Amino acid sequence: MRYLEFAEACEQISEISKRLEIRAKLSELLRQLNREEMPAALYMLQGQLRPEYEGVELGAGDALVLKALALATVSEETALKQRVVALGDMGEAAFEARSKMSTEPTGKPALSILGTYEALSAITRISGEGSQESKIKVMADLLAQASPIEAKHLVRFLLGKLRLGVKEMTLLDALADIHGGTDPKAARIAIEEAFNVSSDLGEIGSLLSQGGLSALQRVSIRWGKPIRPMLAERERSLADVFERMGKEMALEYKYDGLRVQAHVSADRSVKLFSRRLEDLSAQFPDVAKALPDAFRELPVIVEGECVPVDLETGELRPFQDISRRRGRKYDLERMAEEVPVRLFLFDLLMRGEVSLLNTPYPERRTALETVTKRGERIDFATREVVSDVPSAEAFFQRALSDGCEGVVAKSLSAESRYKAGGRGFLWIKYKREYTTELGDTIDAVIVGAYRGRGKRSQWYGAFLMALYDPDRECFSTLCKVGTGFDEAALARLTEQLDRIAVPQKPASVETTFTPDLWVDPQIVLELRGAELSLSPVHSAASGLIREGYGLALRFPRFTGKFREDKGAADANTVREAVGFYNRQVRHVEAEPKP
Ligand code: ATP
Repeated sequence: MRYLEFAEACEQISEISKRLEIRAKLSELLRQLNREEMPAALYMLQGQLRPEYEGVELGAGDALVLKALALATVSEETALKQRVVALGDMGEAAFEARSKMSTEPTGKPALSILGTYEALSAITRISGEGSQESKIKVMADLLAQASPIEAKHLVRFLLGKLRLGVKEMTLLDALADIHGGTDPKAARIAIEEAFNVSSDLGEIGSLLSQGGLSALQRVSIRWGKPIRPMLAERERSLADVFERMGKEMALEYKYDGLRVQAHVSADRSVKLFSRRLEDLSAQFPDVAKALPDAFRELPVIVEGECVPVDLETGELRPFQDISRRRGRKYDLERMAEEVPVRLFLFDLLMRGEVSLLNTPYPERRTALETVTKRGERIDFATREVVSDVPSAEAFFQRALSDGCEGVVAKSLSAESRYKAGGRGFLWIKYKREYTTELGDTIDAVIVGAYRGRGKRSQWYGAFLMALYDPDRECFSTLCKVGTGFDEAALARLTEQLDRIAVPQKPASVETTFTPDLWVDPQIVLELRGAELSLSPVHSAASGLIREGYGLALRFPRFTGKFREDKGAADANTVREAVGFYNRQVRHVEAEPKP
């Protein structure tokens, strides 16, 4: 296929907003592709060159692409830049600049979809000295061959701003339209199941083009390719969990950390993937180092939660600690020492080269315990098989007092296979926040408001809430709340807030947020939330628990109670909030009953 046809289809897709129409257009486009072109097109439609988990990036910033475009269109860089600013999109500027030139500037053959894909891929492999110049050259060559519409899409692709709005799931729909035959619904399910294990749309597209649906049987879990994680449903009480699970179930601690899928090869190479399948290996060198020695057999693929711990006492540390290590590129070894972590394993997905995805959970867990040697860095998720509500309740309380956020119940049935990418009742989570462990409500002051959207557009729809700090005589923010308000409450607040609006942030308010409306701190609302957590963005109690962190109320909700009996200085104080935080985190059992 010529790249021109692909770019024209992209142009049309970018103008459609209805998912069904996008799907139809995609099916039409994909139908015309051959086996080699299919993966390239599937990646490029998502603005990628490889599956996302490989983390391949073009690394072509605005400046580089602008230079290449100037070269390709024989334009003045400064003049071109002005057009980019005026048009607000370098793609449009490329279209314009290319339109001004004669149609065949180079006399070279038209771009093909595969040729373009290969040239773009070549850019990602350029590194070392002089790499900027080489990248500019490859880009300029491509753009010089491109027609206006091709240039527009190429530039957007290079900048990572494709804006097609094509979701993975819509691409799966389109593939099912093509390969579904008489039963597109069944085909859709089969394709999604295969994709959940492969995580690589290019692979799925290529297999389908080669051998139709039956070729998908070749998809299997293997080292270095993360599978999409199985997810848990939720229930409101442990009794309800039992109702779903039957007579007996396993309960595991629900650790509050980062979910990690660890791939350890026969030659001891390790890859760590996040819940969103990003490669975390470099960010956790300590875990990667400990893993190969933690197993009696290799290769394995295991899953667990990576949690910050005090290695001396074994105590779990707050989740916020680990977020300091995530996404980091520098100081990795130092951070590994500063924030030690332990991986609590809860599943075994591959043993030897054998997939355990269709093996029931009890057997997977037994196998996990057989192959793993526990150590300082690698342990098992604490687990108990329970058959009545009181024992489940006792285990749940233990989980909370050990610093976990709740429990995950796991089915012991013969059907309890590992359903990649699926949220279902084979796993059910039950968290502290579903009980009202943060039993105390919090009275906070409105310091700002945000305009409502949609049905709420005539009122303010969310409010910036603060606690009082008597030591510093200021109000520092705790959360933004937009839940729990009925229309009458919003109407009432809108009227009250407009009356106390001020043109700029009151000096007594301490925040990094900028709401649509600032108000004089006067109105106190009663809030309930899941818990208080350390926050890098909210300023309440800033530095009182940890340097650089304030407190935030997670999942805040208005209880419906306007605390008219309280003035702003009667709201809860930051010190009280520190008390709530300390009580909730680890002293749950010790908390006196009212
Ligand atoms: P949440 O915000 O509640 O963690 P989630 O959408 O990330 O939800 P769910 O599948 O709904 O994920 O809840 C299970 C999550 O709990 C897993 O993604 C995992 O990160 C974490 N977890 C902690 N301990 C366990 C465990 N023993 N078994 C399974 N998951 C666990």
